Amino acid sequence: MLSYDKQYYGGAWQASTGAGTITVLSSATEDAIGRVPDGTTEDAHRAVTAARQAFPSWSRVPVEERAQWLEKLAAALEPRVPAIAETISHEVGTALSFSTRAQAKFPVTMLGLNARFIRGATLEEQLGHSLVVREPVGVVACITPWNYPLHQVICKIAPALAAGCTVIVKPAELAPLSTFMLAEAAHEIGLPAGVLNIVSGTGPVVGEALVTHDDVDMVSFTGSLRAGRRVAALAGDGIRKVCLELGGKSACVILDDAPFDKAVPAGVNSAMQNSGQTCSAWTRMLVPRDRHDDAVDLATTQLSKLPLGDPFDAATRLGPLASAAQRDRVLGYIERGRSEGATLVTGGGRPAQIERGYYVEPTIFAGVRPDMVIAQEEIFGPVLSIIPYEDEADAVRIANDSIYGLSAGVWSASTDRAMHVARQLRSGQVDVNGGRFNMLAPFGGYKKSGIGREVGPLALDEFFVLKAIQQQP
Ligand code: NAD
Repeated sequence: MLSYDKQYYGGAWQASTGAGTITVLSSATEDAIGRVPDGTTEDAHRAVTAARQAFPSWSRVPVEERAQWLEKLAAALEPRVPAIAETISHEVGTALSFSTRAQAKFPVTMLGLNARFIRGATLEEQLGHSLVVREPVGVVACITPWNYPLHQVICKIAPALAAGCTVIVKPAELAPLSTFMLAEAAHEIGLPAGVLNIVSGTGPVVGEALVTHDDVDMVSFTGSLRAGRRVAALAGDGIRKVCLELGGKSACVILDDAPFDKAVPAGVNSAMQNSGQTCSAWTRMLVPRDRHDDAVDLATTQLSKLPLGDPFDAATRLGPLASAAQRDRVLGYIERGRSEGATLVTGGGRPAQIERGYYVEPTIFAGVRPDMVIAQEEIFGPVLSIIPYEDEADAVRIANDSIYGLSAGVWSASTDRAMHVARQLRSGQVDVNGGRFNMLAPFGGYKKSGIGREVGPLALDEFFVLKAIQQQP
């Protein structure tokens, strides 16, 4: 049991001004595995005050020193990697091997990389008779979801702290524990008071208290379209800068000349990553109509290679979903797919042999029409829709027929052809022929997948504000 009974702000562990707690459940056993304070508006306001007080001095800390703080923080997290991975496997259901890599090691690496990014950043440039200066935007409220809980926190705080901002993090209710481990690491290295502040609690209480506070200069939000809309409206009312990383319904476009034996399994792996609880998952697989049945066979074979089970069992590739609510939501979408007339190829319910935990069988629907709800809405579970198309132009049209635009894949025997299609897709990322995730490349959405970019050196720009100083020639 990991119990944190205090918030962390102003460089110290502080009793919450309320008495409520949030109990964190294991997604595999449904048992309580942790507890954090259910914070109050007052907790949030105190944390903002701490961040505001720390901002003038932190923003003046030389770049090289700030870079070293990031490296120290990464080094302090390193020995915590096994505990972080295990904790997140409990919270989210991520299979432990993937959790160790993606949920724990990856964010630690990303944190350290931001030291390099800020060292290489251009902070001043002369344009005509103006000196253009990049200055930190100020106090940043970071509100994060549960699916990659530490990664999403690091995607925000690393560039923010590097740029010279101070931050308040409100982690997701379902998976807050790794953020508290981060606070322990920051405390251990003696990060200056008020630079990194953590307040747990619910979105409507702590989240909204941060988003509406006049001493918050910017809100960096990752989560659902529904909550993002509310956050953007509140931030807009306060004329506060906002960065949004929202949902996705990404397409994997497999062209007729593509190597199906590679493309289809890769598409299935993407759709099922973290049991489908991945914003950039390719949940729509677009295949030529006359190759549809081959694709279905290959996809079913690949899915049989991804065993569902206890996230702590070494053989497991797919664990449970993060919560009962998430499980029920996903089961509701599966029902919807059936009733709309999509062909259920495999999966479709709760696994009969597992009694406890929020498990849903990995599911493939075939013959899905682009206008069906399962092809349009983000399901956020292990559900793949295979959609037939007529020709390349039709594939591009279907891929872009979404309110979202976060990620995509394109497969073809011809790189030129794949690149031609990639350029027509309205999404923030496109992987051509299995191009891997790149920690240097900006990540973010077109359309309702969001506003702004995270990851890589270009993400620093979100946390800067430009000042132009004109001199007498
Ligand atoms: P969510 O929107 O329910 O919650 C996200 C965070 O927002 C939580 O911390 C929550 O407490 C907070 N929140 C909720 N209502 C709020 C309000 N009114 N004011 C302020 N804060 C509020 O999302 P979730 O269920 O935790 O996460 C899943 C969603 O996140 C999916 O839609 C997924 O696609 C998206 N996501 C996007 C990315 C990306 O980079 N684009 C990455 C991961 C997840």
